Amino acid sequence: MSSDTTRRNISGSNAPAANSTANSIAGTPSAGPTPVVETRELRKVFGVAAAQQVVLNSIHLSVPEGEMVAIMGPSGSGKSTLLHLLAALDMPTSGTVYFRSRALHSLSEAPLADYRNQSVGFVWQRHHLLPDFTAAENVAMPLLMRGAKRAAALELAAGQLDQVGLAGKKSQRAGELSGGEQQRVAIARALVNHPELLLADEPTGDLDERNADGVFELMQRLHRAHRLTSILATHNRALAERCDRVLGLEQGELKLLGGKSTVQPVH
Ligand code: ADP
Ligand code: MG
Repeated sequence: MSSDTTRRNISGSNAPAANSTANSIAGTPSAGPTPVVETRELRKVFGVAAAQQVVLNSIHLSVPEGEMVAIMGPSGSGKSTLLHLLAALDMPTSGTVYFRSRALHSLSEAPLADYRNQSVGFVWQRHHLLPDFTAAENVAMPLLMRGAKRAAALELAAGQLDQVGLAGKKSQRAGELSGGEQQRVAIARALVNHPELLLADEPTGDLDERNADGVFELMQRLHRAHRLTSILATHNRALAERCDRVLGLEQGELKLLGGKSTVQPVH
């Protein structure tokens, strides 16, 4: 049996049933399509013995294709931890993250690296750009990491910068750009590999109100234009409420806070 077949079989047997929403705040319609991303009993504990901290306690989350979900919660409530687990940047203590029904923990290192590089785009609160490289070079970085030729990668990067309204800044060093511009470059970089899933960790947290609004609007526009599935952590209630669903993370639990979605949680 090829490893691919094995993997398919493994993920097939592990995959949650599409209509299994019991005990889930997920709110996915029971007969709906397979979610893009789903978690089952996701748990993350940091530390050992008396210093143990349960950051995520049995999180059930299901996000169908095309949905934009906001996750709110006080500082330290585990928003970044959850996004890191969804992006396979960290491993859960127990439980599973599924991407299109495939359990991430069943993937070996190479497909997992592909998942991180191609299926997921990640935007951090602090953009993590390389300040001495140009905007285009920064955006091209994920392509160059995949072995793309420099000229072709820079051309694609320029097109991506065009989409975030920075066509005129492609040769400018990232360190010389304003905070809002840097975050736009980070968004262009997150999308340059055409991911299906966009994860953003307080992407407007360091920006003033006007820039935060502009960056959020850009994310919303790109979310629709690229038919993305997006999950963003934010402290900004007004922006969160413009998402399809607002979830709150507190004491390790996710709760439905509201949103435009009419779907109710199943208890
Ligand atoms: P948020 O993003 O909501 O502010 P985080 O996910 O960053 O919260 O952190 C949640 C809790 O987990 C915090 O108490 C933090 O100190 C702790 N934590 C996060 N990462 C680690 C780590 N690598 N080791 C130990 N504790 C951690
Ligand atoms: Mg955080």
